Amino acid sequence: MDASDVLSLCKRRGFLYPSYEIYGGVAGLYDYGPLGTAMRNNIVEIWRRLYTLGEGFVEIDSETIGPEVVFKASGHVDEFADKMVKCKVCEEAYRADHLIGDRHPNPGSLKEAELDELIRKNGIACPGCGGELSSVEEFNLMFKTVIGPGSGRVGYLRPETAQGIFVNFPSLYRYNREKLPLGVIQVGRGYRNEISPRQGVIRMREFNMMECELFVDPEDKGWPRFKDVKDEKLKLLANDGRELEISVGEAVEQGIICNQVLAYFMWFTQEFLKAIGVDGARLRFRQHEKDEMAHYAADCWDAEALLSFGWTEIVGIADRGCWDLSRHIKFSGVDMSAFKRFDTPQEVERDVIKPKYGVLGPKYKALGSKIGKAMEATDPSLIKDDSITVEVDGQSYVLGRDCFDVARVKEKVSGVKVIPHVIEPSHGLDRITYTCLEHAYTKKEDMEMLRISAAIAPIKFGVFPLMARDELDKVAMDIDQEIRYSGIETYYDDSGSIGRRYARMDEIGTPYCVTVDYQTLEDGTVTLRERDSQAQIRVKVQDITIVARAALCGANLDQFVVGESKA
Ligand code: AMP
Repeated sequence: MDASDVLSLCKRRGFLYPSYEIYGGVAGLYDYGPLGTAMRNNIVEIWRRLYTLGEGFVEIDSETIGPEVVFKASGHVDEFADKMVKCKVCEEAYRADHLIGDRHPNPGSLKEAELDELIRKNGIACPGCGGELSSVEEFNLMFKTVIGPGSGRVGYLRPETAQGIFVNFPSLYRYNREKLPLGVIQVGRGYRNEISPRQGVIRMREFNMMECELFVDPEDKGWPRFKDVKDEKLKLLANDGRELEISVGEAVEQGIICNQVLAYFMWFTQEFLKAIGVDGARLRFRQHEKDEMAHYAADCWDAEALLSFGWTEIVGIADRGCWDLSRHIKFSGVDMSAFKRFDTPQEVERDVIKPKYGVLGPKYKALGSKIGKAMEATDPSLIKDDSITVEVDGQSYVLGRDCFDVARVKEKVSGVKVIPHVIEPSHGLDRITYTCLEHAYTKKEDMEMLRISAAIAPIKFGVFPLMARDELDKVAMDIDQEIRYSGIETYYDDSGSIGRRYARMDEIGTPYCVTVDYQTLEDGTVTLRERDSQAQIRVKVQDITIVARAALCGANLDQFVVGESKA
């Protein structure tokens, strides 16, 4: 099996369509068909519930377009670039690190000059036409736009949903009644102008993300539920080259994972992925090399799935430290700190600026007292070359040491301001959806099948009459409606042989099928067939909705069986 088998089934059966195909398509853009949309929605809903109901986090929905200053502050304008080479003959562009292949253990961590050297040394040419390649240059991945008409302001389509959460931190912190930890999730589109997307939905230019930003006290990266999971196992590939299967607790004790929150959410991510059908045997966490880490990250682990493309990042779990909030404080001038209240007020010593009003008055006349007040509010750490700069009525004033003293004062304080640190599990929804599909895909003698977990299957029950006549179709339609009206997705099918109808449902991953036959008319029972075991049982029509619910919960169905079951 390779990705083209999975992608062609996805296209044929309505999971994924290449976008704008009637115009020849656009690389890196994909549409979700009816089944893909339903399956993706199911994944989102499970994820959302784990974070909101399970962990008490809140969800927001922010804009996908942002003004330039946001992405200057986040570092994306200056740093969010991949290394590109172009063919001097056919002008096709490539990611330089992707051309290196296995000639280096981690080409993603290499600088331009190092990539250039490897390309020259190995005589790497254009994979398309064999032409000579240009030298490596940086290519910023953000889509640039203009907000408003004419000479409107520069804006960007967001490359991640995270910044929408960071810029709203002051409001969200107030919403949370000024308490940490505060977990905020967001599901939505991200845009990256990938240099040469060629791997289906693995590398898209517009893609779906499920991100969580967890704001914690920087001095307390413990996590209350850590103790419940500390004996659970994780498969790790650390950045010192060690491959280990180790308990969550030991990984933190040995300093392999830097803190409890990060470790807990790695485990949480693993459980989520397994719950939706990602194969645990084809899942690991790889730690980023120090020089591979994104500009914001202090530590980062990727949940990687083994796919036909090789090990592929599907979730990035990063300790972003105070990078984002500090940068937005710097660029917006807004105080985005949290207030950490002491149990009892404490006496602290601190330095303050004492303006010399006797000097300021004669020098600045009526403005002297305003300048003095601004100086009092200035943090002494901002003194540079024995001067401080303050802003009064839109004008800057530079004041030398003749205008102020620095004094140490004692005061009672009820707490301190801290800039929260952020732990971020960032999920690529399209890659996760594809992983579920590829891990579920099986092929036996030309029969393709998706063994996707019932929880995310787009259709849960196929409902068939053995024949589309003799009242069988009417009974089957009633059953179909009853299951559907109880909130469970069904597909009614009365065409072709029963075997063919089962095969059609297997192909799209439908976990159960109900068949109405002549016996139904006699004793009010139907056949219920399970996809993976192909086992069949007979259950009463009058029990059908409770049986359907029980089956989806994974309950033992023996109590509903009437007569003999067939394997
Ligand atoms: P990052 O912020 O780069 O860690 O990305 C977060 C997650 O988004 C990754 O773990 C991927 O699953 C996913 N992702 C990143 N880039 C793309 C892309 N071009 N197409 C699809 N998914 C992506």
